[in-house]
Amino acid sequence: MKRTRLSVCRRKARFIAMEDALIVAGRAEYPLRPYRCDRCFHYHLTSRTKGKKVPQFVLEKLRPDKVGADRPGQAPS
Ligand SMILES: [Zn+2]
Repeated sequence: MKRTRLSVCRRKARFIAMEDALIVAGRAEYPLRPYRCDRCFHYHLTSRTKGKKVPQFVLEKLRPDKVGADRPGQAPS
């Protein structure tokens, strides 16, 4: 696993508990994923979600409210 750069650690918001990071991630406009930092041993958020295990609510943000928008078979009249 790649080490977190100290400069990244220092400028990022730091969370003591993953729950706190998840709450902030859930409120964010864009998908964020909490990860454990091996510099400060707390949690930071990253927007790099590609290829990573992403919490369900983050996945829902990636696919915003498309459910019900597409209704095949119903032509607009
Ligand atoms: Zn850190």
